[in-house]
Amino acid sequence: MKSYRKELWFDIKGRRAFINITREVEKCLKESGIQEGLLLCNAMHITASVFINDDESGLHQDFERFLEKLAPEKPYSQYAHNGFEDNGDAHLKRTIMGREVVVAVTKGELDFGPWEQIFYGEFDGNRRKRVLVKIIGE
Ligand code: ZN
Repeated sequence: MKSYRKELWFDIKGRRAFINITREVEKCLKESGIQEGLLLCNAMHITASVFINDDESGLHQDFERFLEKLAPEKPYSQYAHNGFEDNGDAHLKRTIMGREVVVAVTKGELDFGPWEQIFYGEFDGNRRKRVLVKIIGE
C-alpha cells in the first residue's frame, strides 16, 4: 500500500474566509501517484474547518450569516472561553462546519458527487495555519 502526506499552509488576512482548495488537493493526489484509495483532508487547528460543498458565493454568504446567528463573534464577553483569547466563536463555528473530509480516489481522480468542492474555512485568521492531506491506497 502507498501512503502520502502533505501539509498545505494558509495565511488568511482577516478573521473569516472560505477558500476553495480543491485544485491544491488534486495536485497532492497527482503527486502521490495513487489510483485507488482514500484521501483524508483535515484542518490542523481547532478554529478552522475543512468541508465539502458548492463553490457558490451566495451560499458562502449564507454560511457566514448562519454561523453568525448560531455563534456570533461579538460581544466577546458572552463566551466563557474568552479571557486570554477572543476566539470562543471560532471554536464553535469550526465544530459546526467540521474538522475533515474523506474523499474516495477512483482511477486517480477525486470521486466527487455533483458540484462537490473542498473548502478551507477560516474562523480566526491573521496567522499561519495548516491543512493535512493524507492519501492511502494503490
Ligand atoms: Zn481559543
